[in-house]
Amino acid sequence: MILGKMWPSLCVFGNKSLGKDVPQELNPTPKQPDNPVSFAEKKTLVKAAMRPQSTRDAYHLLERWQQVVIMRLRTGHCRLNAHMFRKLKLTPSPTCPCGLEDQTPEHVLMTCPQLKPIRDKVWPASVPLRTKLYGSRQDLEATTSFVSQTKLMV
Ligand SMILES: [Zn+2]
Repeated sequence: MILGKMWPSLCVFGNKSLGKDVPQELNPTPKQPDNPVSFAEKKTLVKAAMRPQSTRDAYHLLERWQQVVIMRLRTGHCRLNAHMFRKLKLTPSPTCPCGLEDQTPEHVLMTCPQLKPIRDKVWPASVPLRTKLYGSRQDLEATTSFVSQTKLMV
């Protein structure tokens, strides 16, 4: 063996025991330990780990423009007056054009009276904010449809 001739010390390790003076944890075990995970279980684990994100979260099933709208509404980093005024100083006031409250995602999605006709059309029954922002694909699509109909730039 060429390596053994050039660096004899490299040949100390191998399949043979290292000797009595070497701690037991450094000695190679004579046999592989039994693996308690069956092949079917390993297959399931690997498939789950390799599954694309899109099958796990409704957000990832949306079109790109819908994802942008939902993420802006979820984070509040959007072009509504409250954020534009408080964070960026790009609007003269944080207040909604209705004059009642700050124009936040919650106000727009839940309470703004100017948007009530569109809101009632999209959600005939009351829907919680959490469902509008974190619900199923249909819930999120309803939210993006609502925002689109309001002509608001979010
Ligand atoms: Zn309003």
